Amino acid sequence: MTSIQTVLGPIDTSKLGQTLSHEHVIVSSGGIPQIYPEFIKRDESINKGIARLSEAKKEGVDTIVDVTTLDLGRDIKLIETVSRESGVNIICATGTWRDIPRAFWNSTPDAVANLYKREITQGIEDTNIKAGIIKVANDKGGVSREGEIILRAAARASKSTNTPISAHTWAPERVGEQQIRIFEDEKVDLNKVYIGHSNDTTDIFYLEGLMDKGAWVGLDRYPGGREMGTPKWEERTETLIKLISDGYGKKLMIGHDWSVTLNIASNDTETSRNKYNPDDYLFIHRNVIPYLKNSGITQEQIEDILINNPKKFFES
Ligand SMILES: [Zn+2]
Repeated sequence: MTSIQTVLGPIDTSKLGQTLSHEHVIVSSGGIPQIYPEFIKRDESINKGIARLSEAKKEGVDTIVDVTTLDLGRDIKLIETVSRESGVNIICATGTWRDIPRAFWNSTPDAVANLYKREITQGIEDTNIKAGIIKVANDKGGVSREGEIILRAAARASKSTNTPISAHTWAPERVGEQQIRIFEDEKVDLNKVYIGHSNDTTDIFYLEGLMDKGAWVGLDRYPGGREMGTPKWEERTETLIKLISDGYGKKLMIGHDWSVTLNIASNDTETSRNKYNPDDYLFIHRNVIPYLKNSGITQEQIEDILINNPKKFFES
């Protein structure tokens, strides 16, 4: 019996069920939901979140990991309401995404780690909702100086609280390898590290190398192929099939990186997003899983990716 913090309190990991490993309810910028709620249409976003996640629950989704941090406009009370009303468990995050506050740039890993630790052990904002995962992010160009402060802070908070880390990365430049080098330097158990957005590449050698080191790999951008042009969802799924066939099916997780409201620099409008992914949190269930089954992937192998691997990750 291991318990994991969700926004509605701790639950046993056996209750996680089908888990999408990297999602959001809303994505915005730090402070916007609290200070300018009209900008994210907060009430509408809550209703949309409840509607879409209730639908996802009906088709099998039990849990999502919402890796929205302060600088992505995390709104912990909004997430709590959406979880309560939709019935989907939501594990929320501490940590920092790509908009690293300038306040941290000349700080130290230990000072930032203390903030993360407080959100893991005591609570977020004025609630007692505790983070169940630590998010970090490094993108094109690799790990910057301030990015390194965040990685080391996450490593230290992870070690002192036994909390797993979810890394946003830029797979085409193999940034996951740089992140892992820093985690190794900090002596983090790589079995507690998830390298996400890994299906932005089809480089099997790179992906298997991450797993050979002990890290988990998140194929968590679906449908994909929107701004970058490649890989399309079918190619992403072929990569997943290849990794399973090579024996890596016990180190993989899956998700969409979806959100009902997206308010960051993006060419996408609501109409284009609906057209691009009319299934939102159910794209995997309605498209990827049938594709996997048609390709000879067994029910057991699918359950590893959706159920058993997230459970083991949170129990690590
Ligand atoms: Zn994301």
